[in-house]
Amino acid sequence: MKSKLFRPAQVLPIAVTLGILTAPSPADAGSSSSVSASEAQEILKEGNERFVSGRLMHPHLDRQRRFNTAKGQNPFVTIIGCSDSRVPIETVFDQGIGDTFIIRVAGNVCDTDQIASIEYGAEHLGTQLVMVLGHEGCGAVTAVVEGAELDGSLPALLDNIEPAVAESRRIHPRLKGKDLVPFAVRSNVMQAIEDLLTNSPGVHKLADQGKVQVVGAVYELETGKVRWLGEHPNLGSILKNPPKDPQHAGGDASKGHDHAGGNH
Ligand SMILES: [Zn+2]
Repeated sequence: MKSKLFRPAQVLPIAVTLGILTAPSPADAGSSSSVSASEAQEILKEGNERFVSGRLMHPHLDRQRRFNTAKGQNPFVTIIGCSDSRVPIETVFDQGIGDTFIIRVAGNVCDTDQIASIEYGAEHLGTQLVMVLGHEGCGAVTAVVEGAELDGSLPALLDNIEPAVAESRRIHPRLKGKDLVPFAVRSNVMQAIEDLLTNSPGVHKLADQGKVQVVGAVYELETGKVRWLGEHPNLGSILKNPPKDPQHAGGDASKGHDHAGGNH
C-alpha cells in the first residue's frame, strides 16, 4: 500500500512501463496493457488517496504527454461511471491524458453502447481491469427508487436499473425512498457488472480466462473516497452460464434481458 506508484520522480519510469513513450497505434488492437489488474487497482487507490487528502499531482497533463499519446492510446484501466457532474473520474483518481479509458452514462448502466465501449477498452486496448463506479446520491437510481414519471429516452435508460432496485427492495423490505438508495446504488453497480458479463461474449471470455478482472466501487460525494466493492459476489455462476450473443439478439442484446437475479 505504501509504494507510491506516481511519486513525481517515478512518473517518467511509469510512463515508459506503460508503453506511453512508444505508444502503440490503435492498429495494435488486441495487445494487452502491461499493467496488471492488481497494479491498476493500486494506481487508482493511490490516486484517490491523493484526491481525498488534497495532494493532487495532476500527472500527464502537459504538452509532452499530448505529443506522446497523439500516436495512440494505451490506458491501464477501463472505467464506466455516472455522468453526474460531481464525479469527475480522472480527477477522483488523479489521472491524466491517456491513462484511463472512461465511459460515462447516467446511472452507470451497461446497455448495448456502453458494453461496446467497454469491449473496446478491454479487448482492443487491452486493459486488464474493468471498473464499474457508482456513487452516493445517484439521481438515476433515486428516480427508479422513487418511481419518478419520466419521458423521452430516460425510461429506456432507467429500465437497466430497475432489477437492481427490485433486488434491494427484496433484501431490505422495510426501507423506502432515500433510505433504500444507498443499497440500490451498490446493487446497481453489481447489476452493471452482471449485465456486462452476461451480454458481452468477449469480456465474459476474458474474465473467465482470468485475463480481465471486473470490479465495482462506490464514490462518496462528500469525502471523495472510493469504496471498493470487489468482484461480483456471484461471479462464478455468472461465468458458468454462456453469454448472450449480440449477433443473435438482433444487435439489441440489452433490451428485454432478464437480469433480475436470474443467474443466482
Ligand atoms: Zn449518478
